[in-house]
Amino acid sequence: MSTRPQRLVILGSTGSVGTSTLDVVARHPGRFEVAGLSSNQRVDLLLEQCRRFQPRVVVLPTEERAAAVRAAVAELGLATEVRVGAQALCEMAAAEDVDSVMAAIVGAAGLPPCLAAARAGKRLLLANKEALVVGGALFMRAVAEGGATLLPIDSEHSAIFQCLPEDRSAWARRIDHIVLTASGGPFRTRDPETLHTVTPAQAVAHPNWVMGQKISVDSATMMNKALEVIEARWLFDLAPEQIKVVIHPQSIIHSMVVCRDGSVLAQLGTPDMKVPIAYGLSFPERIESGAPRLDFMSMRELSFEPPDARRFPGLQLATAALRGPLGSTAVLNAANEVAVAAFLAGTIGFTAIHSVNANTLEGLEPRLGADHRLDDLLELDRRARAFAQQLMKELR
Ligand code: NAD
Ligand code: MG
Repeated sequence: MSTRPQRLVILGSTGSVGTSTLDVVARHPGRFEVAGLSSNQRVDLLLEQCRRFQPRVVVLPTEERAAAVRAAVAELGLATEVRVGAQALCEMAAAEDVDSVMAAIVGAAGLPPCLAAARAGKRLLLANKEALVVGGALFMRAVAEGGATLLPIDSEHSAIFQCLPEDRSAWARRIDHIVLTASGGPFRTRDPETLHTVTPAQAVAHPNWVMGQKISVDSATMMNKALEVIEARWLFDLAPEQIKVVIHPQSIIHSMVVCRDGSVLAQLGTPDMKVPIAYGLSFPERIESGAPRLDFMSMRELSFEPPDARRFPGLQLATAALRGPLGSTAVLNAANEVAVAAFLAGTIGFTAIHSVNANTLEGLEPRLGADHRLDDLLELDRRARAFAQQLMKELR
């Protein structure tokens, strides 16, 4: 086995998952080489990361931000190449000398570089669940054809993955169904009648996890779990009825596999993304993650509840989208992305997120052929966003 460092690209390195990834990397000098980084907005943090990890390439979305980084990088005397735009992201993710790609961009914007990494046969660490929700079969085909190794980073999917044998061909015979756990978010016990008054600040205050804004709102509506059901369908090749959700407010059991013989395998840990990130980075080995350890002696009780459909209507949309016409999951994702952005901007209320999602899924026909390509998915994503924007105009 080669002892050279694993060459790693982090897409979305300035976000919550991106910074946690660099935190794990920094604990293992010599094991990883940071080959590339990218950020959408946080130029100062990206520069700090350049100084510390000296990547060969960084990618920014606009020439203006790139120019600022280029000047600062030159001043620091670094050889980092600063590139611009979506195509540069794809090229960085597929570059020949790159071993692994951490996909930590939020939203469908992460799909093109994920596909590029998959087609180039990389070890692909997938946090960016929206990319798989939108990409579906096309994404999984790219992984198979490119010979990529797809490693789930979402904590629930990492848990399932850790409970399964390394030999994927044994999965179908082993799994009866899986149980995704959900914390229930900040409004688990709040009177559903008052949910329309929720503010963005209340919605992003998650009781157990510190995360980016979009996934925090998704956790409050439980659309995050809906997206995770769709993500699990593709990662583990399951039928919708094989994916169950249970509320587990303590977020200690990260998910479970119920085997054909009735045996239940679970993965436990403190709620810290550094654990699934470290596993993705080191698989099939295990390395220090830096996460606090579970203390059984002082652990609170572990409790379980069924999800309340009145409080969390979004969960049913996952099943509806999985059973709907091809492309329905991409439509649902697009509606949710624009609805969450509008809620965070203060233009729609919290419960309107669900109306926008349900009505877009119901009202827009995806018209996607079985032989669709990336461009067809991106076009569908644009149409669904426009449809949802129009619905929101009518709501106001
Ligand atoms: P975040 O908002 O903290 O970070 C997102 C990153 O993506 C940032 O670096 C940002 O600059 C970049 N980005 C945003 N929009 C972009 C665009 N249009 N083009 C290119 N880059 C863009 O998000 P996060 O919480 O780190 O989540 C990242 C992904 O991981 C999401 O898909 C989320 O669902 C998933 N995830 C996150 C957690 C968590 O604990 N944060 C857990 C499980 C899964
Ligand atoms: Mg998750």
